[in-house]
Amino acid sequence: MLKGKTALVTGSTSGIGLGIAQALARQGAQVVLNGFGDVEAARQSVERLGVKTGYHGADMSKPAEIEDMMRYAEREFGAVDILVNNAGIQHVANVEDFPVEKWDAILAINLSSAFHTTRLALPAMKQRNWGRIINVASAHGLVASAQKSAYVAAKHGIVGFTKAVALETATTGVTVNAICPGWVLTPLVQKQVDDRAARDGVSVEEAKRRLLGEKQPSLQFTTPEQLGELAVFLCSEAAVNVRGVAWNVDGGWVAQ
Ligand code: NAD
Repeated sequence: MLKGKTALVTGSTSGIGLGIAQALARQGAQVVLNGFGDVEAARQSVERLGVKTGYHGADMSKPAEIEDMMRYAEREFGAVDILVNNAGIQHVANVEDFPVEKWDAILAINLSSAFHTTRLALPAMKQRNWGRIINVASAHGLVASAQKSAYVAAKHGIVGFTKAVALETATTGVTVNAICPGWVLTPLVQKQVDDRAARDGVSVEEAKRRLLGEKQPSLQFTTPEQLGELAVFLCSEAAVNVRGVAWNVDGGWVAQ
């Protein structure tokens, strides 16, 4: 379905981004990966699906590096048809104790990076009259939790950004949407599970149950594979009139 298209997925060396990159590759899209950590393992897992794969190590908190990544994708792949803004970090603290540099980093990585990639990718998408921009927001783009002020602010921000750009592109072949996962058991959440197990003096399994029980009525983690399939749908022609949505995949979290 996506043969001939190129997808750039930020923060795709693990977790949700990697799941989305793999799902798009299964549909035949070439993929540009980005992120830190075990880059080679991520790259091989996508290459194994039989598509051309690239990598750029831009730090999403640095606009100049983002510009370099977008130029790399255009140069090596000819275009960015599908842009998935996924890179994100978390920090948990009361607002009065929130480290200023963590606030700045969360806003830069979870929100401003999407502004930079979008402003750079959109002109060519409009010119070709085809494009898909998918912003990985969160249930925290729709509702808040205590001790996550920067994350909640950034995620609410990216939902608003999604709607504004969806309106600016509404009469074009470019669609812009957000995905809002609830709990997904990735390294980002494993850290919160481990912290909770230590804080409550319980096992990791019990900490997972408590985390889910608090917020996610299905009591099941959402998986990167499920989010990958939603991204595939948003890239399909059937989804051409899906514009500016913030689509929660959260086991009922925001229905409460
Ligand atoms: P993760 O930690 O597994 O992945 C984060 C990715 O971002 C990694 O590839 C990492 O290397 C990359 N990254 C981090 N800082 C970066 C930077 N400065 N520049 C470039 N890349 C950077 O986490 P995840 O859970 O897969 O998170 C992916 C996205 O999904 C995030 O935006 C997160 O907020 C969102 N999300 C996660 C959950 C969840 O429960 N895990 C829920 C809702 C939303």
